[in-house]
Amino acid sequence: MKIHPLRIGRTKVPFGQFYGGLQGFSLGEFAADKDHFLWVPIHAYLLDHPKAGPVLVDTGISPEQAAHVDYYRGSIMEHAMDVDEYELPADQTMPAQLARRGYRPEDIRAVIITHFHEDHVGPLNLFAHAPVYLGAAEYAARNDKVLGLVPLAYPPSIAAITDWRPIEFTGPAIGGFEGSADLFGDGSVLALPTPGHSPGSTSVLVDHRYLLTGDAMYTIRHLAVDQVRAFQTGGEAQYVDSVRRIQWLRRELPELVILTAHDHTEYGTRLIAGLVGGELSDVDLAWAKSYERATFDELANLNPARLPRFVPSGDGLGHVA
Ligand SMILES: [Zn+2]
Repeated sequence: MKIHPLRIGRTKVPFGQFYGGLQGFSLGEFAADKDHFLWVPIHAYLLDHPKAGPVLVDTGISPEQAAHVDYYRGSIMEHAMDVDEYELPADQTMPAQLARRGYRPEDIRAVIITHFHEDHVGPLNLFAHAPVYLGAAEYAARNDKVLGLVPLAYPPSIAAITDWRPIEFTGPAIGGFEGSADLFGDGSVLALPTPGHSPGSTSVLVDHRYLLTGDAMYTIRHLAVDQVRAFQTGGEAQYVDSVRRIQWLRRELPELVILTAHDHTEYGTRLIAGLVGGELSDVDLAWAKSYERATFDELANLNPARLPRFVPSGDGLGHVA
C-alpha cells in the first residue's frame, strides 16, 4: 500500500533530549540548557489501505498548540512547554497536508496513535468521527502524570475522541516481538508493542516493509541503543528492550525501512523526500541499505564516525553531524 509522510511543522528540542541518554543529560539540563537546540520535523503518516481506506498514523500538532499561550493557558503545560516549542506554517497543517493528497479530514477512516505526547495528537479533534487505535497500556495510562506533574494525555487534546480502540498484542510473534496485532485483518498493518518512551508506545509495521516507530526511536542512529540513547523520564529499561526487539525485527526483515516521527538527519530527510509518490524507488531503497551498512555493523553497533555530534550554528541552535 502507499505510505505518505505528512510534514506537520517542526519542534525545537535540546540535543541532550535526543542524544544525551548515556551522557547523563538530566532534567535540570533539560530545563536550563538553551545553547544546544535542534529543530526537528514532526511527521505523521497516511496509509492508503486497500480495504480499510485512508488511515493515519499519528497526527502531529495543531495551529492552536503552535500558538501555545491560549491553548495551554492556566495549565501546567503552559510552563512545561516552551512558548516557541512548535512552528507550524499554514501549508503544513494536517488539513493542508491531507488536501495535497486529495483528502479531507472527514475522509480518514481510522487513526493509529503511537503515543499520547502532544506532538502526536494535536489535531486529533479533526478525526472525532473515526476509531482511534493505541496501545492498551497507553490508554490505561491516559490519566497518568509524567514525573508526577505533566499530563501524559493533555485532556483538551484528546477530549473529542469517543471511539477508543486499545490494542492488545495477542497476535503472532514477529522478530523480537512476542505478540502483535493485525489491525485490519489482512496482515498489512501490524501494531507492535515498543513501550518505554511512554507507557504504551506502539510501532506500526506496514506491509512487512516500513516500520513507523513514533518516538520509540527518534532517528535511525538510535538503533545503536548502547551508544545512542534518548533522555528518558522513566521506562529506560523498557525503552532499551524495545529497541533491541526492533534490531531483531530488522535482522528478520532485511529490507525493513525504519521511519520515525522526528528523524532530522540525512537518512530520514532523504527517505521522507523519496516517499513523495507513496513508495520508495529502488534507488532510494538501495541508498538506505548502503547508508545503514556504512552506519552499523551486523549487530547494529554504530560506526564511531557516525556518533552524533552537535554542530552549533549560532543563537543556541545547531544541527547533528
Ligand atoms: Zn513522544
